[in-house]
Amino acid sequence: MTEEVKRVYAFGKDADGKNVTEGNTNMKSVLGGKGANLAEMANIGLPVPPGFTISCQTCMEYSDAGNTWPDGALDTIHEYRVDLENRIGKKIGDPSDPLLVSVRSGAPISMPGMMDTVLNLGLNDESINGLIAQTENPRFAWDSYRRFIQMFSNVVMGLDGDLFENALNAAKNVRGVKSDTELTADDLQELVETFKGIFSDNVDAAQYPALTQQGVAAFPQDPMVQLKLAIEAVFGSWDNPRAVLYRKQNKIANDMGTAVNVQCMVFGNKGETSATGVAFTRNPANGEKEFYGDYLVNAQGEDVVAGIRNTSPIADLKKTPGLEEAGEELEEVFCTLENHFRDMCDIEFTIEQGKLFMLQTRVGKRTAAAALRIAIEMEKEGLCSKEEAVLRVDPDQLDQLLHPQFDKDAEFDVLAQGLNASPGAAVGEAVFSSADAVAAAEAGRKCVLVRWETNPDDLAGMIAAEGILTSHGGKTSHAAVIARGMGAPCVCGVDTLKIDAEKKQAAVTGTDVVIKEGDMISLDGTTGVVVLGAVNMVMPELTGDLDTILEWADEFRTMGVRANADNPEDAELSRSFGAEGIGLCRTEHMFLGERKQIIQSFILNDDAETRDAALADLLAAQTGDFLGMFKAQDGLPVIVRLLDPPLHEFLESPRALDVEIAHMEEQGAPADDIAAKRRLMAQIDAMSEANPMLGLRGCRLAILFPELASMQVRAIATAAAELKKQGLDPHPEIMIPLVSLESEIEQLRAECEQVVSQVAREQGMELEIPIGTMIELPRAAVIADRIAEHADFFSFGTNDLTQTTFGFSRDDVEARFIPRYLERHLLPCNPFETVDDGVAELVRMGCEKGRSANPAITLGVCGEHGGDPDSVKKFHKIGLSYVSCSPYRVPLARLAAAQAALADK
Ligand code: PEP
Ligand code: MG
Repeated sequence: MTEEVKRVYAFGKDADGKNVTEGNTNMKSVLGGKGANLAEMANIGLPVPPGFTISCQTCMEYSDAGNTWPDGALDTIHEYRVDLENRIGKKIGDPSDPLLVSVRSGAPISMPGMMDTVLNLGLNDESINGLIAQTENPRFAWDSYRRFIQMFSNVVMGLDGDLFENALNAAKNVRGVKSDTELTADDLQELVETFKGIFSDNVDAAQYPALTQQGVAAFPQDPMVQLKLAIEAVFGSWDNPRAVLYRKQNKIANDMGTAVNVQCMVFGNKGETSATGVAFTRNPANGEKEFYGDYLVNAQGEDVVAGIRNTSPIADLKKTPGLEEAGEELEEVFCTLENHFRDMCDIEFTIEQGKLFMLQTRVGKRTAAAALRIAIEMEKEGLCSKEEAVLRVDPDQLDQLLHPQFDKDAEFDVLAQGLNASPGAAVGEAVFSSADAVAAAEAGRKCVLVRWETNPDDLAGMIAAEGILTSHGGKTSHAAVIARGMGAPCVCGVDTLKIDAEKKQAAVTGTDVVIKEGDMISLDGTTGVVVLGAVNMVMPELTGDLDTILEWADEFRTMGVRANADNPEDAELSRSFGAEGIGLCRTEHMFLGERKQIIQSFILNDDAETRDAALADLLAAQTGDFLGMFKAQDGLPVIVRLLDPPLHEFLESPRALDVEIAHMEEQGAPADDIAAKRRLMAQIDAMSEANPMLGLRGCRLAILFPELASMQVRAIATAAAELKKQGLDPHPEIMIPLVSLESEIEQLRAECEQVVSQVAREQGMELEIPIGTMIELPRAAVIADRIAEHADFFSFGTNDLTQTTFGFSRDDVEARFIPRYLERHLLPCNPFETVDDGVAELVRMGCEKGRSANPAITLGVCGEHGGDPDSVKKFHKIGLSYVSCSPYRVPLARLAAAQAALADK
């Protein structure tokens, strides 16, 4: 209207019934998800109460300018408000027939329950009379006014919600009634006065001069003041702590802002032909094709989610007297929405005196199991292509399916049964507050958060807990929705649980069990079962829908997926998850337990005989290891890395030795024994390094202790020869770690080749064992062309490459300062989790140079980043041949690799 930058967008119809919507579903970055889809619903003819949306950019400008309005923005809002009044034929604040509006947040990416909403705005001491006259329902009008004061005071002014809840309870006590609905119009009118008093007593008059009369803050009567303050509060809620935490948790950018939707109110609490509800077009927990959700007759929107009254299942709606028609229409809307968005949608609706209104829709959040089933079924129904089906499953979510479950052979007594709100099983100590959950997790104890019902303030505790258990609320309650989003197991609505949060305990009706803080409990979010004590858990198998989607993914991906594994069990598991070989076998992991003693006797002894004996033992042990590994991966490549860690990692800790010597002295041990221990300690001390990760490790070990490397190569070659004799098809490859000089690989390769040829001669057979290196130091990446002349393959070790590129000690910084860097936005994400662009650039350079010198070279990555979907996408772009990751991440990497390939098309 008056400004050049468009900040406000109308949606819905005008007075003549013409659609005057200015936005659409593709404008989420401007209108937020809610605003964009309200516009879309209006565009496709669904019944949407009219309103307007203030852009996310306006929120960011307001916030960036220290909560100051951009020039002209308020004027534009004013124009749109007047336009809305004209469209409806009512005015906000009109004493004879007031227009009431809701003011709701809506960010570009859905953040359920994280930000603020104000309903019934526009009521004041005069317009209440208009509402009474129009509705002829004073009880409804006074209830609306008291709700408005309560919500406005809490959301906009930041007053404690309990102040109002307590007053409401007091009123009920005085009347001797139990439920809010039993309060009369007069009671509610009185309550309005009480609430206004609470407002005046608790709002700091000095902070709000515009609301202050004679030194006392008064509830604002001017609807324009109400509207401005409410919009400012919604803008401000973008940065409230729970929203900030949610964004961090879900990797959502901080600079998007929220839109504000100002919309005509419709009322689900105007009697028995009014209702409100939330629903999904398919079951979001298991993906079944059924209408799913809850509704409440004669209630306002927030009541459903808050779990204040018990809801009815959506299937009953069209059987409810007075709501039959609206129920039928709603089912038609479900179909319209699914066909239009070609995906499962979630919906908020209100029925006002028999008439249906759509308040929100978006593509619905779902569990991993539901995501897979819905994608597959929608492909079959022709609603999406195979490519889209693969793109629709979030690789990060697959972890959920790989979550533990109760062992089906475990015996346990069911203590209580609730709703199976979010799948997966959890075992932990019962805790009764979010803060206690956080404290338990920080102390390294697993816990289950037990609450009457969760609210957004519980988010930190929900993240910290293994699982969430509530005694109230349905499957669309806060606990259920958030837990599903996080992939945390959740059982809700266990009404036999009588929780006393203050005493930190819960009695279970019908039993004499009282769960106390610290008691072990188990829950199964897939079945809704709660058990006292710790039930044995197992990992689920990878079958069914996941297999189907992964098979489809395999059709599209161009990058291979291998696993990092160092024992036959993990090698087999990774194969069952679809790994196409082993990209990294860390042989140092094979030197634990008794083997440690053998390697110690090699390192610490000078006499040749002892050392030879140790080497012989190691050779026998390693040959056995490799036989197992190659067998498990028969026909597939297995990259065995020569010993990599600082050698002193195989020795006793000097601190423990020190204590041992002190004990020996105290107990008067023989002097010779003490002297021997001291000599050992001196040897170990002599090997200690100031920066072990930059010291004697990787290929440097093979240079200082060539016998160890030769032993390993001999074991690899011997195991391969043995299996070949058995008719198997082993494909070992030898990897030399932490190379920075081409001369290192040149010399070590020659030594390895010599051992391999020797074994081949001894065994009387040909042995072709490729030899390659890890690229995990910046120098190696920069001179990769020179290194590639001596390497059959490169495997980028992005863990060390991140460490050495940043100069970040990988064992220290994640706990010490990376969180602070993330908070201050110095880093966009943890570079040990998602590969950093600078590190990725070194990988790209290494690949380019490697290929230029050796076009046949195979290029892969085996750092932790190989199992991170965002990194997998970057590696695909760079053109790596494969990623290698831990076995449980293999499915996720397969899917992410396919999505990367599809995004490239
Ligand atoms: C790496 O550095 O990325 C790597 C895979 O090796 P490690 O983690 O064993 O050092
Ligand atoms: Mg490394």
